[in-house]
Amino acid sequence: MTTLIQQTQRCSICGSESEYTCVASTNAFGSADLDARPPEMMRSTLYTEVQQCPSCGYCASDVSKPRPDAADVVSSGEYQIQLIDPAFPNLANLFLCRAIIDQASGDYVAATWALIKAAWACDDSDRVGPAMACRTRAADMLLRAEQHALSISAEEGAGTAILVDLLRRSGRMEDARKAIAERRSGVVAEIIRHILDYQSVLVAYSDTASHTIAEVLRFGE
Ligand SMILES: [Zn+2]
Repeated sequence: MTTLIQQTQRCSICGSESEYTCVASTNAFGSADLDARPPEMMRSTLYTEVQQCPSCGYCASDVSKPRPDAADVVSSGEYQIQLIDPAFPNLANLFLCRAIIDQASGDYVAATWALIKAAWACDDSDRVGPAMACRTRAADMLLRAEQHALSISAEEGAGTAILVDLLRRSGRMEDARKAIAERRSGVVAEIIRHILDYQSVLVAYSDTASHTIAEVLRFGE
């Protein structure tokens, strides 16, 4: 089961105190999605992964922790518009705001994950178009991270597997096909090669839906 606790945090930008829900413990039973989204019960704790200061709008995994230049970013028009963008569910906006701060500080890995989590928030609200918009931005951010020699995962090949899933689920089938063709031979981990083979089939069917690692294992049998 998931155990939640309430914690009072002081915003590192404006100093106001608010209560936030934090996860003391949770579990994950079953298979992760191909974009690394965990199964339940951890899956349902997504909303605890971003805190929003109700006074100034600062969005962070922990608002008490200062980020370089965050105050300037939070007061910018781009940020304040994103915070209430009606095109996205509220939770997605918080992750999108986090991505703006991450990108401004050059943390393209954190920005990629914030955009992926924004997509998950859209999935949970059945907002297909906005979810695709978040994923296409996440794919571009992941490529940007790679240009800076940064990997979004410590696991070999996992960045490629997630990139392909982001491209496929945002409807960029040609880009997904190209990424598989260019990268598969360089992947060492067998499970990642299996995932890429399964993705090839999904891409061939122009399948933009969510799929799991468990399906890949069944596919390989
Ligand atoms: Zn604040």
